[in-house]
Amino acid sequence: MQFIDLAAQYQHLKTKIDKRIQTVLEHGQYIMGPEVKELEQKLADFVGVKHAITCANGTDALTLSLMALEVGEGDAVFCPTFTFFATAETIAFEKATPVFVDSNPDTFNICPQDLEARILAVLAEGKLKPKAIIAVDLFGLPAEYEKLEALAKKYDLTLIEDAAQGFGGSITNANGQVRKAGAFGDIATTSFFPAKPLGCYGDGGAIFTNDDDYAELIRSYRVHGKGKDKYDNVRIGMNSRLDTLQAAILLEKLAEFPTELENRNKAAQQYTQELSSTYKTPSVPKGYVSSWAQYTLQSDDRDSAMAKYKAQGIPTVIYYGTCMHEQTAFADLGHKLGDFPIAEKLARSVFSLPMHGYL
Ligand SMILES: *Cc1c(COP(=O)(O)O)cnc(C)c1O
Repeated sequence: MQFIDLAAQYQHLKTKIDKRIQTVLEHGQYIMGPEVKELEQKLADFVGVKHAITCANGTDALTLSLMALEVGEGDAVFCPTFTFFATAETIAFEKATPVFVDSNPDTFNICPQDLEARILAVLAEGKLKPKAIIAVDLFGLPAEYEKLEALAKKYDLTLIEDAAQGFGGSITNANGQVRKAGAFGDIATTSFFPAKPLGCYGDGGAIFTNDDDYAELIRSYRVHGKGKDKYDNVRIGMNSRLDTLQAAILLEKLAEFPTELENRNKAAQQYTQELSSTYKTPSVPKGYVSSWAQYTLQSDDRDSAMAKYKAQGIPTVIYYGTCMHEQTAFADLGHKLGDFPIAEKLARSVFSLPMHGYL
């Protein structure tokens, strides 16, 4: 069996996707064609935000957001140490300093208590200016945004939601108000990498915000810092557009996405029912919905657990075996083993089972 069965999804959507691709081949507007605009409108409606801006990938989506927030040298940007490299990479790419935060062992997400401790430590040291937080919806589960938004406000930080994995998830608060992943913080980002909950057939990404000024800046940065047009350049930007062909594919995948999310949630429920007596299964707090980018178990004897599945023809993968503070690229930050005990324990004990909408 496949870990993520993209072929089964394509078979299911083949007629519609092929037709969409054919339409693009016929009109020939490969860059910023009509499908891009149509997708941006549909993404904004799906998430319930004013602006959805597509771009070349989820990493660029984070970089463009940090550019709009004017994050740079001397700034501290807080992010979980247990995440995919791009979260921390983009902070350093903008010449700011990533300040890592430990995780919640039940949800895998950034720990708000440790976050506040790390903010206070940066303030006490007085070298860096606390500027922003990047929270990650790890494995599909939205982070604790009520607490994170309160902390952002308390310390005057901007908040970015990295929803590369969380797109499709949501939180319903105590008043019954539903907020979808992509609608948290000042700016949210996602990725359409094929293996993400909503993936295309190549690289792709998007940025979400309700703020008109951020949206205008990001639209400019995305196309060479354009002013009136791409030959009128008012700032230094980048080339980070989503291909029309990828937008066309995503339009059909987005239409099917709610059904796939239901299937992913059913599969996760069944996994939990059958495995919770053997492994530590992922917990979903009350009111939260996960998009199940990964279904992740914890075991003190991960190697034999994975070997057992392998013997039965069931693929498993470790996300993630190395925390950010353990990465060679961040060695100059001077961290040592034990600085983030929960994340380190997760990195040694997690493994993920097959998960997709056609399981
Ligand atoms: C995949 C991912 C990204 C980067 O997305 P790309 O489209 O691969 O550039 C960023 N953050 C997280 C948490 C991711 O999982």
